[in-house]
Amino acid sequence: MIELRSIVKGTLLEDEPMARHTSYGIGGPVSAFITPKDRNDLARILMFANQNEIETHFIGSGSNLLVSDSGINGIVLTPAKALTQLEFNGSHVIAESGVMLGRLVKECIKRNLTGVESLIGVPGTLGGALVMNAGAFGGEISNYLKSVDMMNMKGIISTYSPKDIDFSYRFSSIKSDEFVLQAQFELIEENPDIIQEKRMKASKGRKTNQPLRFRSAGSVFKNPDEYAAGYLIDQAGLKGTKIGDAEISHHHANFFVNHGKANASDIAQLIRMARKSVFEKFGIKLELEVKTIGFDPRELE
Ligand SMILES: Cc1cc2nc3c(=O)[nH]c(=O)nc-3n(C[C@H](O)[C@H](O)[C@H](O)COP(=O)(O)OP(=O)(O)OC[C@H]3O[C@@H](n4cnc5c(N)ncnc54)[C@H](O)[C@@H]3O)c2cc1C
Repeated sequence: MIELRSIVKGTLLEDEPMARHTSYGIGGPVSAFITPKDRNDLARILMFANQNEIETHFIGSGSNLLVSDSGINGIVLTPAKALTQLEFNGSHVIAESGVMLGRLVKECIKRNLTGVESLIGVPGTLGGALVMNAGAFGGEISNYLKSVDMMNMKGIISTYSPKDIDFSYRFSSIKSDEFVLQAQFELIEENPDIIQEKRMKASKGRKTNQPLRFRSAGSVFKNPDEYAAGYLIDQAGLKGTKIGDAEISHHHANFFVNHGKANASDIAQLIRMARKSVFEKFGIKLELEVKTIGFDPRELE
């Protein structure tokens, strides 16, 4: 840790509770939570972690993340609050991975550029949105993507075109040892009234359908082909089920909410319960949308 401290130029928080960095407000301590100062700093940290075989995770703002109560014996790196440059050149956009998605959406709307407005209200950073291929109301972040720059564990930067990466519903083939640095988009100029209409529709839909007053990580499961996961969990009779301070929201059964003191094992228990009941009733296996750190996948089945 002393050696790591002497390398990091940005901020390093030791034994930092991950609960402070996830929208669930859940997660045990990580040995080092690091916000690198810039790309050079990031490259040095990645090489150090690689050479010393330190467990390393990348996160954005933790809005799709369940971290175990036992925490992480290793390091977590985030570009949020550091790599936040956003540039426009006509309809061409260059955004660093730490740019908050909400900021990107608003700046595009301001310039009468269409392509990302349906993502209004999706929390998180651009890096997280790309890894998750975040989407809402018919739009996905990968739709107008031109390229993505990533840094590997040796500090080497590569540029990928969208055809180098598989994107599908809440999935990208971006590997867990590639740090997303920045992305370029080519958007389209549009009549502002049309953009506003799409934005309003998305905003309204979100406010009506989602339990936004409570801490959550959005949808816990992906929607299987035929049905919405929330519908299946509801039909399995689990809406409103509580374990400790964690609840399967009675507003939207695919959102599990933390009423204050929930821990990761409470959420894990609800996950197992939902999977079991939905499988028994419908024969459908629910696939997790939330990303997890510190769990054996069997603990969540
Ligand atoms: C209230 C609420 C509503 C939501 N609604 C939606 C919705 O409508 N649509 C939707 O798609 N999602 C939704 N989500 C989920 C979440 O907001 C998105 O998945 C978001 O894109 C995650 O971004 P993040 O920065 O928080 O990523 P994190 O949760 O921090 O990370 C997500 C994944 O990306 C990886 N990652 C993050 N940053 C990097 C990086 N720089 N380099 C490499 N890997 C990285 C992480 O390792 C992890 O695997 C919602 C969440 C909440 C809480």
